[in-house]
Amino acid sequence: MSLPLNTFTQLENFGHSLKSTSYRVQIQRTEDIYDTFRLAKKLGLTVTARGTGISYNDVSLNSGGIVLDMSGMNRILEWDTASGVVRCEAGVTLRQLWHHVEPEGWWPPVVSGTMRTTLGGCLSANIHGKNNFQAGPIGEHVVEFTVMLPTGALIKCSPKKNADLFYAMIGGFGMLGVITSIKLKMKRIYSGLITVDAWHVPNLSRQLSGLLEHAPDHDYIVGWLDTTASGKSLGRGQLHAANNLNEGEDPNAGETLKLSHQHLPARLFGVMPKRLLHYFMNPFLNNLGVKTINTAKYISSLRDHSFRQSHAEYHFLLDYVPDWERSFGRGGLIQYQSFLPKETAESAWREILQLSHKRGLPSYLGVTKRHRPDKFLLSHAVDGFSLAMDFKVTDRNRAKMSGMLQEFDRIVLSAGGRFYFAKNSETSAETTEAFLGMATIAKFKKLKKRCDPNGLLESDLYRRIFK
Ligand SMILES: Cc1cc2nc3c(=O)[nH]c(=O)nc-3n(C[C@H](O)[C@H](O)[C@H](O)COP(=O)(O)OP(=O)(O)OC[C@H]3O[C@@H](n4cnc5c(N)ncnc54)[C@H](O)[C@@H]3O)c2cc1C
Repeated sequence: MSLPLNTFTQLENFGHSLKSTSYRVQIQRTEDIYDTFRLAKKLGLTVTARGTGISYNDVSLNSGGIVLDMSGMNRILEWDTASGVVRCEAGVTLRQLWHHVEPEGWWPPVVSGTMRTTLGGCLSANIHGKNNFQAGPIGEHVVEFTVMLPTGALIKCSPKKNADLFYAMIGGFGMLGVITSIKLKMKRIYSGLITVDAWHVPNLSRQLSGLLEHAPDHDYIVGWLDTTASGKSLGRGQLHAANNLNEGEDPNAGETLKLSHQHLPARLFGVMPKRLLHYFMNPFLNNLGVKTINTAKYISSLRDHSFRQSHAEYHFLLDYVPDWERSFGRGGLIQYQSFLPKETAESAWREILQLSHKRGLPSYLGVTKRHRPDKFLLSHAVDGFSLAMDFKVTDRNRAKMSGMLQEFDRIVLSAGGRFYFAKNSETSAETTEAFLGMATIAKFKKLKKRCDPNGLLESDLYRRIFK
């Protein structure tokens, strides 16, 4: 195997705000991974696995090194409709997975806000969904996975077998090995529909108390937060809490479970192709435009109501408008997501929102969720909440934005919060040390030495947070 110069490609993050050039190697079989490790060692290059490559930051970028494109390893290998256990190659996307299992009455136990992610990417980030407070992260539903270590060893990990690696590689961002296949347990569903309750919340305090009080009665809960509102309305927004239907509740379950009932429409009002929408959104993506849109959205949310919608519509809201991130313009978009204990969240986010207004760099989209802790080594979870904030990046605001996000980090740290490596692009080695603690980092590094003695697996994220 060689690395022809034409594989030297520019890769980006999801928001097109970060760019890096690497040797991109297409992986079709497990043996290709081993061949690439050997070549990397010979050439003195580092290696990073990449699924779809749609993380918000630098987790699947590797400047000057090799990037393993895992999207070609995308076969569903086994599917047991009786137990709901599926075995897939790591490049299978959530879209492929739910298309395969949903018509037979199953749904992935945890999904991200987009269905474009791969299972390898989801495990390596240990993604959380709108059900994190009860279902935990995706890692809690993994029966077993197979991983290739840079030594060439192909090993299986489960909560019982190689348990230390199981809890470190899930959420380990590909820094210990490359996952080749995954066995995952699906969740039973009895309808293709989900019942959603939507109600408005006038401020941050009610936003957080709403998440706290209503999570126990629902399977899923998520909040939209108007990041541009200030004063008494700071943190206002709308909560959406949803429940799966019980057996027998949907008289047309046979119909609603069909894929034809789940598809997100490709056209707006049946006329305009949605893939063109981002061009129309672009002129409104400035501070004034977003404030106007948010105010209109909040006013339209004042009518509290309940409705039913398909699983795909509820879970993959962010896939409604293809390429919506392009509407942020040339500089792109980044996301900042902080996780805070329920006792300190309100005051920390009040400070963060006020700071973003003061700096003239408001977030354009805010999403809140309810979380609980888990036992994965590099966990980002807390008994509390998360707030994800999207920011527009421009050539002019880039340095100022970076400074502001570092100020956010200090606020989050002093409030006992945690950070999610799949999202934030500023978290430094010092911040990482402060929130994970020296003992956890030492444990991770010991495992790294064992799995990857020559230090082949490195990404831009790895160099940022560990060196
Ligand atoms: C619109 C949008 C909505 C999102 N919503 C959510 C959400 O609700 N909850 C949430 O938790 N996250 C969410 N995310 C984040 C997303 O789920 C993660 O960033 C996920 O890792 C992306 O999957 P990917 O296949 O693109 O992975 P990549 O970005 O390609 O890779 C992510 C990480 O996984 C590693 N990796 C990839 N494949 C392998 C492999 N086979 N073996 C070992 N390591 C591997 C990479 O090295 C990298 O560290 C969202 C992202 C977007 C763009």
